[in-house]
Amino acid sequence: MSDNQLTFSFEFFPPKTQEGMDKLIKVQGELTGLNPEFYSVTFGAGGTTRERTLDTVLKLKQTSGVECAPHLSCIGSSKESLLEILQTYRENGISRLVALRGDMPSGMREPGEFSYANELVSFIREQSGDHFHIEVAAYPEFHPQAKSAMDDLKNFKRKIDAGANSAITQYFYNPDAYIRFVESCQELGINAPIVPGIMPINNYVQLARFSDACGAEIPRWLRKRLESYGDDLDSIRAYGIDVVSHLCQQLLEAGAPGLHFYTMNQSAAVLAIWNNIHPEP
Ligand code: FAD
Repeated sequence: MSDNQLTFSFEFFPPKTQEGMDKLIKVQGELTGLNPEFYSVTFGAGGTTRERTLDTVLKLKQTSGVECAPHLSCIGSSKESLLEILQTYRENGISRLVALRGDMPSGMREPGEFSYANELVSFIREQSGDHFHIEVAAYPEFHPQAKSAMDDLKNFKRKIDAGANSAITQYFYNPDAYIRFVESCQELGINAPIVPGIMPINNYVQLARFSDACGAEIPRWLRKRLESYGDDLDSIRAYGIDVVSHLCQQLLEAGAPGLHFYTMNQSAAVLAIWNNIHPEP
């Protein structure tokens, strides 16, 4: 498959400080050369980063000219506040969204008016017709709260049936998880593109903590190898680039429609992986 048919995208989080924003603009400048389809910007559940997500999206759009997709989560939010956000995005020329349920922030009690992401997708379609290209989340290793694998697949299908155009997966390090997941989706009649989410490895301790929380598996062989480097971050990064580049290659060879990189607002690992999967002729 030629690169022209593949969709590459990069995810950022909204910085808290001006220094963080300046750094992000630099990172984004380094990644714009890779000709991404879009950038996406995360959203704190319960609307905790509402203003910062919007500011970041507008800033990135203005400085790069690349399409920017804000994430929008519905847990803990009212229809009215979500409608306001959708309106603001439309007024600012945003036409792509990543629609999510999100997780209830600790201390927040009000569940809001939506329980699941499929309800948010339906709401966006009801309110905005076809204005937005809607991405949703998919879980090749299954969502940690899913009652069963089949239940999770059916719940994923609800989001596509509600009008989502495509999906980005939770990260994983076992390509078979993705390949089997896509096969199961096809058996259920889901034909929307499912783009693998790729998490570069920069810091093992952080990654292990995060993976436990979101249900992404770090295979034993990888965990043991990363643990063996202790505090040697350079070796962790070098090994991580090697492993993740190989993963990306396997996924593209298996027919993945593109790759979505969780950049953590850093470019070095993404650029190194990119060079490995796009060697100079
Ligand atoms: P859902 O699709 O609603 O699924 C959540 C759980 O409920 C699953 O177990 C599912 O099987 C079950 N379920 C779904 N629908 C139904 C139904 N109708 N009836 C019964 N059960 C159902 N979090 C953030 O806070 N901000 C972000 O910006 C963000 N970005 C993300 C981007 C990507 C690509 C991914 C993969 C995740 C992201 N997350 C983000 C994390 C996400 O919010 C959490 O994983 C959250 O727990 C689930 O969100 P969801 O949209 O997948 O939920």
